[in-house]
Amino acid sequence: MKGFIVTVDGPAGSGKSTIAKLIAKKYDLTYLDTGAMYRMIALYVLKHGVGLEDKKAIADMLEKADLDIDGDRFYLDGEDVTEMIRTPEVNRIVSPVAAIKEVRKKLVDMQREISKGKRTILDGRDIGTAVFPDADVKIFLVASPEVRALRRLKEYEQKGVKTTYEEVLESIKERDYIDSTRKESPLVKADDAHEVDSSKMTIDKVLDKISEYIEEKIGE
Ligand code: C5P
Repeated sequence: MKGFIVTVDGPAGSGKSTIAKLIAKKYDLTYLDTGAMYRMIALYVLKHGVGLEDKKAIADMLEKADLDIDGDRFYLDGEDVTEMIRTPEVNRIVSPVAAIKEVRKKLVDMQREISKGKRTILDGRDIGTAVFPDADVKIFLVASPEVRALRRLKEYEQKGVKTTYEEVLESIKERDYIDSTRKESPLVKADDAHEVDSSKMTIDKVLDKISEYIEEKIGE
């Protein structure tokens, strides 16, 4: 299995990263969380107080931002920002930032470079459609907005972040809308992706289903 690529795309809170980590462990693949990369750029924009409408300033900043990934830790200009990129503030601006063409170009180039010739599983929104259209196995993981909001709320509660179900649901719906209607690589299911609805499935069930698709491919 040389240069094996598995892609997991889908909306916020569908369980992509949980599943991708488990699949990575089971099949000895490197896991790349591409959402975290967009989150680092969003944090950079927040830290430097650049307006979202100033596309030129954001494009210039991209040249300077130093992004580094070490296992499951994320570094921005040398600082560990792993926790900082998961706050509601970053959630609020990450989708508009990710809709900027220059941002996508830089991060897609990095994602291809990091995964080149490796056995990798990547999760995101456009991995099976734009980043690796020839991937070996493509998964499109979905769940109802209500189920996804409840999952996110639970994560926030565990971290002690104060928010409400209604706020989380609204933020999820807003991100879904921006991600699926943007001009650059919108969130859509690739024609050859396997759709898995995790709304009523346990994590183990989702893992089994995706494992079937991977093993089908390995056995070809
Ligand atoms: O996956 P996560 O929720 O961390 O992603 C954060 C945001 O980054 C998404 O809402 C989307 O706007 C953007 N994103 C993207 N393309 C990817 C991964 C994430 O546009 N491949």
